[in-house]
Amino acid sequence: MSSIYRLIWLVLCFTGSISVQAAVNNVQLEAGKKLIALEYLRDDSGTLSLDALLDDAASETPSHSWETLVDSTPNFGYTQATYWLRFHLVNESAQRADQVIEISYPQLDYLDVYELRPGQPPVKASLGDRQPFSQRLVDHPNFLIPFEMASGAQVSFYLRVQTQGSLQLPMSLWQNTAFFLAIGEEDQIHSFYYGVLSVIFIINFFVYVALREKTYLYYALSTLGYLVIISSLRAKTFQVFWPDFPWLHNQSVLVSIPLTLLFSTLFTREFLHITRDSRLYMPLQAIIVMAGLAVAATFVISYAASIRFSVFLIIPSFIFLFSCGPLLWAKGVRAARYYSIAWGVLTAGGALTAANKYGVIPNSFITEYGVQIGSALEAIILTVALAERLYREREQKVIAQAETLREHHERRQAELRLMKQVLHHPVTQLPNRACFEMAINDLTLSRNQQPFSVCLIHLTRFQEINKTLGHNNADLVLEAIGRKLNEIVQTVDGVKVVEESAESRFFAASFEAASFGIIYDNQLFGVNSENLAQVQERLFRPIDFKGMRLELSPVIGIAQFPDHGRDAPTLIRHAHVALESAEALETRIGYYRQEQDRYNSRRLTILSELKLAIAHDALTLNFQPKFSVAQGNLVGMEALLRWNHPRFGLIRPDEFIPVAEQTGVIKPLTRWVIQHCLTVLQDLFRAGHNISMAINISASNLRESDFVDFVSDAIAKSGLPAQNIILELTETAMMTDPIRSLAALEAVASTGVRISIDDFGTGYSSLAYIKKLPASEIKIDRSLIKEISIKSEDQIIVKATTKMCQQLGFKVVAEGVEDELTLRALRQIGCDLVQGYYLLPPLPLNRLVEWLYTNQSTGGSPGSPSPRGGSLPASA
Ligand code: C2E
Ligand code: CA
Ligand code: CA
Repeated sequence: MSSIYRLIWLVLCFTGSISVQAAVNNVQLEAGKKLIALEYLRDDSGTLSLDALLDDAASETPSHSWETLVDSTPNFGYTQATYWLRFHLVNESAQRADQVIEISYPQLDYLDVYELRPGQPPVKASLGDRQPFSQRLVDHPNFLIPFEMASGAQVSFYLRVQTQGSLQLPMSLWQNTAFFLAIGEEDQIHSFYYGVLSVIFIINFFVYVALREKTYLYYALSTLGYLVIISSLRAKTFQVFWPDFPWLHNQSVLVSIPLTLLFSTLFTREFLHITRDSRLYMPLQAIIVMAGLAVAATFVISYAASIRFSVFLIIPSFIFLFSCGPLLWAKGVRAARYYSIAWGVLTAGGALTAANKYGVIPNSFITEYGVQIGSALEAIILTVALAERLYREREQKVIAQAETLREHHERRQAELRLMKQVLHHPVTQLPNRACFEMAINDLTLSRNQQPFSVCLIHLTRFQEINKTLGHNNADLVLEAIGRKLNEIVQTVDGVKVVEESAESRFFAASFEAASFGIIYDNQLFGVNSENLAQVQERLFRPIDFKGMRLELSPVIGIAQFPDHGRDAPTLIRHAHVALESAEALETRIGYYRQEQDRYNSRRLTILSELKLAIAHDALTLNFQPKFSVAQGNLVGMEALLRWNHPRFGLIRPDEFIPVAEQTGVIKPLTRWVIQHCLTVLQDLFRAGHNISMAINISASNLRESDFVDFVSDAIAKSGLPAQNIILELTETAMMTDPIRSLAALEAVASTGVRISIDDFGTGYSSLAYIKKLPASEIKIDRSLIKEISIKSEDQIIVKATTKMCQQLGFKVVAEGVEDELTLRALRQIGCDLVQGYYLLPPLPLNRLVEWLYTNQSTGGSPGSPSPRGGSLPASA
């Protein structure tokens, strides 16, 4: 029996210098000794009492058989059964011994300790973490049983244990002072550990508060979780924070484990950037959900079930979390390196401790505190990783900011380029009209409104250059002229800057159609001073281009602020008006005069009313005869438009035809004229006058796709012979687009109508071109005819032209015959037909018919064209 009580102490020492004495109950030992031999009894019913056990032990045939535990720490696994343990101590030394039994597993729910001494009643202490902390014999998280023994004294202990978790009793027997020295040291190590984790928690928590970046929060909370797990497993929190609330203590143990798992998983997800598209994402989410459930379960299911659930969850989860590191490291995720190392350190610490527990490696500080050291290192490494991450993110932000700045700069450059394009002439690169207007507006809106001039320079011969040299060369010429102009004017006092930038200063602007603009200060520049003449003179000089001397013939138009306009558009328009008048001037510099302005309100009225005038038959036709010089009879007539305006009176076609051309009204207008002329001609035919009808058309009509069809249809319907219809088109109109005009004229001529080249001698058409035209008639412009009788050179020109054209097969008409001498000269030259006031002015139809009736017999028999109703003087 005594053997049952015999306890075996196995002494394992840090230094190994103390010998092992089995079954010796010597209690006077220096340091902590493991109680490795004792007896235990399982009590499934949980009803056994100390008295019952003592009685049973004293009986002859004990019914309970105690088992001996040799050489190991009592560990009964997860059980809810009650266990009894007993051991016996003897003080064999000569001194009195002050001892402590330490049970360094603070999670036991119930631990009743009975101390039995011979001849004394048992002394009972109720420990366990279901009891308030105040019941402890010593104020320490571990269960401590202090006792003393006189020399030779004996004492037996009976322990009744019951707990919901794993039931283990790592028991050590200590000499009192040695114990308190040792736990002082251990407490220091633990405090250091708690301190490290607390600091890490605080740092990361504050980083989170500052940055609102979830990773830091999860990390802070998981660190806090470890802190709570370790300190509540060691019952430190119980001792310090809630010693009177055992329930809270147990709950904190239960909750902190799955909660820590939850935050660790969340941290892993954020830290390693594991997103939905990763295969690791779903398992992580599953762990998060399970951990959440485990937290909730702690409030519902039993302690034991809850602990099991947590352990069941934690083992695979931690293996999974651990493997995330190397997996992502292999994929090149930078953060995964730190993560793997941190986990590695923790695992190594745990492994060292475990290996020590299983006796693979000897005891040392590192093996003892492997998990703590590992987890502290893990926390530190991850904090460093987070700091590095913070730094990187900052760096990336700076790079991103630099990138945004660069993009901004580029956009700005593009805008500036666009701005430049919008405000500059594509060929000359000088400021354009919009820019010029801005410069003028600046001046008109400035506070000291100094008078200034807007000056337009137009190169009248540029169109020719364009036609002769082609667009590419013409562009080069224009660019050179623009540069030259800008250079010339910037040396002249009073010329204002049109546009100024960091790289350039422009004094001249460039418009469409080879026009330039400058602005000058009237006072400084001096109105009509030599300056303008100087500029003009330098511009007048022909320019050299690829060995050619190009004549530009500039004209200048000037409008002055404030007399000629108070805003940019008006000033520019008025300068244009002045420009047009300047061409006729000797100086070729024109100043705006209101009388000249064809672009005033009258023009606007014409513009808006012309269409209505056609619709309401407010237009009429006058007819001017053409006479044969040889026979003297009337061979045809030209229809000339008249507009009797209710307000302006008679408006001549020179004024409204250009408007009609610009607005597109020319199409219905010409068709209206053609229809009327055909009707008139039908009537004349019926009356027996077999004459021709000349109708003026404009170049715009040739561009109408259905013009030819219209003409041939109308003639076909009228039943008149097509060759009695003559279409007159001016030479200059044809020259704006010679190739197209030629093609279009050919189409028109194919209908059988005749073509007449009007105002011949005012354009620049070449003989070669004229030769190709499908025309039958040439009308020499009246400017050449006018002074034929007094200017011999005009006579020579007309004569040469007439002969030449006749040789090419054209009939030659002289228009604008105003006197007898002229008629005589023309007869001498050999002109075919004549037309002019001297013979007959344009007349309304009824008066012409009247004239015909009195002067010409029907049937078109030859007679003599005569001035003012008389016969053409045959004698001339
Ligand atoms: P045009 O075709 O050269 O017409 C001749 C112009 O000279 C007419 O001016 C006529 O009245 C004028 N005239 C006739 N004899 C003499 C004369 O001895 N001395 C002077 N100094 N002038 C004379 P009008 O009627 O003012 O027509 C001007 C221009 O308007 C025409 O010049 C023609 O180009 C155009 N035009 C007239 N009617 C039409 C039309 O129905 N359609 C088109 N597209 N243009 C028309
Ligand atoms: Ca004409
Ligand atoms: Ca004419």
